[in-house]
Parts: sequence; C-alpha cells; structure tokens
Amino acid sequence: MYITRRKTRQIQVGNVKIGGDAPISVQSMTIPHPSDVKATLEQIQQLEQAGCELIRVAVPDQDAVAALPKIKPHMTVPLIADIHFDHRLALKAAEVVDCVRINPGNIGPWWKTEEVIKAVNDNGIPLRVGVNGGSLEKPLLEKYGYPTAEALAESALNAVHALEDVGFTNMKVSLKASDVHMAIDAYWLFAQQSNYPLHIGITEAGTAMTGAIKSSMGLGWLLSQGIGDTMRVSLAADPVEEVKVGFEILKSLELRHRGVNVIACPTCGRVEIDVVRMANELENRLGHVKTPLTVSVLGCVVNGIGEGKEADIGIAGGQGSGILFKKGKLVRKVPSEELIDVLIQEVEVMAQEKEAELASTGQSDVALPAFQSSQSPSFNNSDDEEKMIGRKEIPVLPARS
Ligand code: SF4
Repeated sequence: MYITRRKTRQIQVGNVKIGGDAPISVQSMTIPHPSDVKATLEQIQQLEQAGCELIRVAVPDQDAVAALPKIKPHMTVPLIADIHFDHRLALKAAEVVDCVRINPGNIGPWWKTEEVIKAVNDNGIPLRVGVNGGSLEKPLLEKYGYPTAEALAESALNAVHALEDVGFTNMKVSLKASDVHMAIDAYWLFAQQSNYPLHIGITEAGTAMTGAIKSSMGLGWLLSQGIGDTMRVSLAADPVEEVKVGFEILKSLELRHRGVNVIACPTCGRVEIDVVRMANELENRLGHVKTPLTVSVLGCVVNGIGEGKEADIGIAGGQGSGILFKKGKLVRKVPSEELIDVLIQEVEVMAQEKEAELASTGQSDVALPAFQSSQSPSFNNSDDEEKMIGRKEIPVLPARS
C-alpha cells in the first residue's frame, strides 16, 4: 500500500507543528476536572511519559479556567483548552493555553466566535474548529434531516469560510462522529475542498478494545488515504491507552516509527516459553523507549530466527534455555528464566546506540519525506496517483456562496 499525505497548510500549537510536512502527532485528553490540579497534573505526566504530544483539557466552567495557569507551567507538551457553549471561557483560556478548541455548532451567535478569534489572535495561538455529529447547527439539521457526513462537512466548511471572511486562517479542523462510515465520509468530503490541517478521530469510539478497533478502522482508512495531521483515539479507558493505540495505528501504517514495535508469535504446540506474558511485559517495561526498534518474541527455535529476521532483536524459546538473536543472527543462549531481563537490557543498550546514531545524522523517529511514506512511489501524474490510492467518488458539496 502506498500513502501520499494530503498537502495542507501548517499551523503551530506550542512547539508542535501540525500539517504540511510535520509528522502526524498523537494527542489525548485528561479526565479529572482541571480544578483538581494535582490529579490533572498526574495524568498529564503519565501522558507525557507515554509520548503524548499534545494534551487537551476540558474547560467547562470558571473554576477550570482559573486552574489553567497552575497546570500549564508544569507541562512539557502543548496545552489545548476544550470549550463548549460559553465563549467567555475561551477568551480567558486563550491567555494561558497553546490552542483553543470551539464547536461552532454550540458556541452561539457569530459575534461570540469573533470575540474568540480576537482573543486567539491577540495571544498568537491557533484555533481548532471542532464540529461534531451530535451538535450540528439547526439549519443543517433541518436541511439534511439528521446528522450526515454531508452535514458535518458543510458545517465545517461554513465555519472555515466565515473565519476566512474575517481574515482568520490559523486553524485546524475536526469533523467527528461515532459512526465510522460517517466520520470517514465527512473527513473525506472536507479534505476534497479545503487544505486546513485535520485533527482526526472517531468520537466516543467505545471501550479499550472496541474503541481501538473502531478507531483503527476509521483512522486507518483516512490515514491510508493521506488524510489526517494530528489524531486522538477516544477510548472509555485510561487516556494513556489512547496514546498507545494512536502510535500503534501510525506504526502499523509506517507513518511514525516511534518506540518499540513488539512482534510476538501466536504460539502453537511447539511453544517453550510464556510468549503472551513476555510480550505484554516487554510492552510495559519498554514503554519509555522512544527509539524505533522492532523486538520479537517467538515461542520456539524451530522457525525462531527465520521468523524473527525482520526484527532488530529478539528471543526464541527452547527447552530450559532460549536464544537471543539480532537481525536474524544468533547472539547467544540464555537460560529461560533470564530471557526477558536479558532482552530488555539489550534493547535499552541498542536504543541508546541507535539514538546516538540518529542524533549524529539529525534524524528523528519520523524521517519520512514530506507528503510521502517511505514506500511511496513517485507518481507521473495525478491520474496515476488517483489509481494508486483508489479514491472513491463522493458528491461535491454546494459551492461557497
Ligand atoms: S515460533 Fe514456534 S511456537 Fe511460535 S508459532 Fe512459530 S512454531 Fe509455534
């Protein structure tokens, strides 16, 4: 599969670039009310440790706004304020945070949005225009009868056009629905008619497993079509899980190479070690490693080294002792009970060496050329490109009036 990223404008949220040739960033949202500063900061630290690159907090009332100056100075990643209904919260939050999210469907009359634009402009920060299937404007609901992809896309385009009319372009856009088809079509429609960076997500996707699957299907499809510049996986679970799933989606599509990619065999009658426990332990104990490395855990040596050829390093189980291998070559035998500790030590050394190597060449975890994945072919013309990524026909929305 070849992926060509959609060309978009680029905005800057704190120190994170979004859109253009910037890596697709992973974000999440805290759960405690921000006025519980201690709990909010604890969760922020856990998210930062998991690699979360942007963190959003809900700002539902004045107490939440008042807590923002106590939270922001302790963060190492940009802070985004999520505002619904009361635009006055956005005016105050803009003085502290790196980006403000508003939903044009529930912020009220246009003059309120204009005040928010002035506030974000005065503070030099961008806006996220976040439309949502559950809170579309009345006229669009009347026009379409119920929330549809077309209604979502039209709502977002209307908001973008209205903001452009007052000279505002420092924004990213999201069009969220919990229905995977609707979200995909809404993002697709919008992406055909606008070049603003897109925050993608399937809203209220569900529990850890259901939500991860729904998000993988929806976001995976969009990303494979080159759509999406920053993403949040919405799970009814610990937000750290959202970050893990987000990176796994990006790693699966080879759009990001951050962190350890654990390969584990499904096991069979030949298995000699507890592969499931070991693979889980590896993911947990190596969660702090940011260096891109593929680590393999195989249940036996029958096909062990051969099956692990794609890995940078790995282990294969044996009777009483297993083997440690690197790049498909045997390194040494290791007693079974020491396998996991030895592997983790070796991965940490390897990560340090690779990190030094990447730093010396000025590369990061995403050393992909702008707009293309590492495997992208060069297209001779746009027809070739269309064929290669299999674009589908979607009706065009009414032209801008
Ligand atoms: S590596 Fe060994 S245990 Fe694992 S699936 Fe293959 S043959 Fe079975």
